[in-house]
Amino acid sequence: MKALGEFEIWFLTGSQDLYGETVLQQVAANSKAIAAGLDEAQTIPVRVVWKPVVKNPEAILAACVEAGATDKCVGVIAWMHTFSPAKMWIAGLQALTKPLLHLHTQYNRDLPWTEIDMDFMNLNQAAHGDREFAHIEARLGLVRKTVAGHWQEPGVQARIGNWSRAACGLYEARHLKLARFGDNMRNVAVTEGDKVSAQMQFGVSVGGYSVSDLSDAVRAVADKKVDDLVAVYEATYDVVASLRVGGADREALREAARIEIALREFMTEGGFNAITDTFENLDGLKQLPGIAAQRLMADGYGFGAEGDWKTAIMVRLVKIMAKGLPGGTSFMEDYTYDFDPKGAKALGAHMLEVCPTISDKKVSCEIHPLSIGGKSDPVRLVFDAGTGPAIVAALMDMGDRFRIVATEIDLVAPDKPMAKLPVGRAVWKPRPNLQVAAEAWLMAGGSHHTVLTRAVGAEVIADFAEMAGVEFLLIDAHTTAESFKKELRWNEAYYHLARGLR
Ligand code: MN
Repeated sequence: MKALGEFEIWFLTGSQDLYGETVLQQVAANSKAIAAGLDEAQTIPVRVVWKPVVKNPEAILAACVEAGATDKCVGVIAWMHTFSPAKMWIAGLQALTKPLLHLHTQYNRDLPWTEIDMDFMNLNQAAHGDREFAHIEARLGLVRKTVAGHWQEPGVQARIGNWSRAACGLYEARHLKLARFGDNMRNVAVTEGDKVSAQMQFGVSVGGYSVSDLSDAVRAVADKKVDDLVAVYEATYDVVASLRVGGADREALREAARIEIALREFMTEGGFNAITDTFENLDGLKQLPGIAAQRLMADGYGFGAEGDWKTAIMVRLVKIMAKGLPGGTSFMEDYTYDFDPKGAKALGAHMLEVCPTISDKKVSCEIHPLSIGGKSDPVRLVFDAGTGPAIVAALMDMGDRFRIVATEIDLVAPDKPMAKLPVGRAVWKPRPNLQVAAEAWLMAGGSHHTVLTRAVGAEVIADFAEMAGVEFLLIDAHTTAESFKKELRWNEAYYHLARGLR
C-alpha cells in the first residue's frame, strides 16, 4: 500500500517520429519499465503512471492539458529517452499547470563497452536529448525540479519521492479549507497576514466561524458519545487518578471529550482540515481545547493557536507530505533556552497544543491549571518528544510576499525530567548550533510558532515552497550568519524584481 496512493505522478517520455517504429517500440518498452520501477519504489509514496511516448507537438500539448485537467494527477515527470526537439514542447510546457520534475536518466545503467554500436547510441541518448529539453525549460523560466542519475539508484528514487510528497502538499494546499474560531491574538504581528494573498498563492481558503456555534454544539453532544470517547482516552493514555471514575476532575475529562466530539463533527460537516482557536475568545467553551487539538493533529488535521492560521496551514500540509513516514509532526513554539557552553539547546512546547505523534512512548493524560485565559483547567496530553533529526519550519507574510524558513535540528533527551512542566515538550539542538541558527532565524523574521516534523526532511519543504512560488530559507549545518544575511539581501532584490510591475 502506498501512503499517498490516491495520487498519481504521470511519466512522460519524449521522442520524435524520425526514429521509426522499431526504435519507438523499444523506447516505449524501456520507459514503461522505468515508470513501473518507480511505481514500485518504496520511497515514492504516489502511483507513477506511464503515458504513451510523445512524438509531436500535438501529443505533447494534449498530454500536458490532460495532466492539468486530471484532479488526482499531482505532477508530471518528463524524460527524453531519445532526442525530442524542444520547440515541440513549448506549447505543452506553457499549458502545464502541475509541478514538473525533469528526470535525467537512461534505461541502462552500464555502458556496454564491447557491444556498443550506432544503433545503441541512437536509442539511448538522454545525455543529449535531456539537454535539449532542459534548454527550453530554462528558456521558458519554468519552475521544475531536476534529478539526474540512474532510475534504480535509491538516492534518485528518494529525491523523486520527496518531490512527490511536496506535490501532494501543493494539491492539499489547493484544496484546503481552514476554520478559525476567533481572530489573531491582539497586537501579535507574526500571526497576522493577508488571507486573500494566501488563497492566491496556495489555494487555501481561510474562514471565520462563531465560537458560540461551537459551544452550542458542545452542549448538544450525547452522553453515549462522551462515554465512548472517554473509554478511548483510558485505553490509549495513562490517565491520571483525578480524571478517572470517581476522581475530582472526572467531569473535566468528560467536558474535554465533548469539545473534541463537537469539533470533529464541525470539521467533518464543513470539510475543514485545519483549525485555529485562541484562549482570548472561548465564549461558552469551558476549557481551552487541549486534548481535542492534540488528537485532531494526531489524526492529520492542521492546528494553530492564538489565531495562527498560517502555522495551521503548515501543520496540515506537512502532515500530508509526511503521510506514512515514522516520526510525527506537530504545532510547536520556541519557548526557552539552555545556554550550556558545551552545546546550547532550545525547549519547545506550547500551553497545551502539541501533537503526541512526535513522542515515542505512551503519553499521559492530565489536568492542570492554565495560568492565562481565565477558564476552567484544561485536560491535556503530556509527553517528551522522541530524539533524532527533525526540522522546524515557519510561514510568514512579509507584506509583499510569503516566506518559509526552516531549521534542521537534532531532538535530544532533556538533561533531567521536567516533572513540573505538564505539556508536550521537545528539546533540540539546532544546526549548526543555537547561536547561528537563532541569529539567522531572527534575521529572517521567523515566527515563534512553527511546525516541527521528525518525518520529512528540508528537501520536501524546499520543493513545496518552489512549487508554490514561495521564498524558502534553510538554516542547516552549513549556514553561517554572514552568508545567510547576504542570502536575505539578495532575495529582497530577487523577489522584488520577480514580482514585476503591477
Ligand atoms: Mn503560542
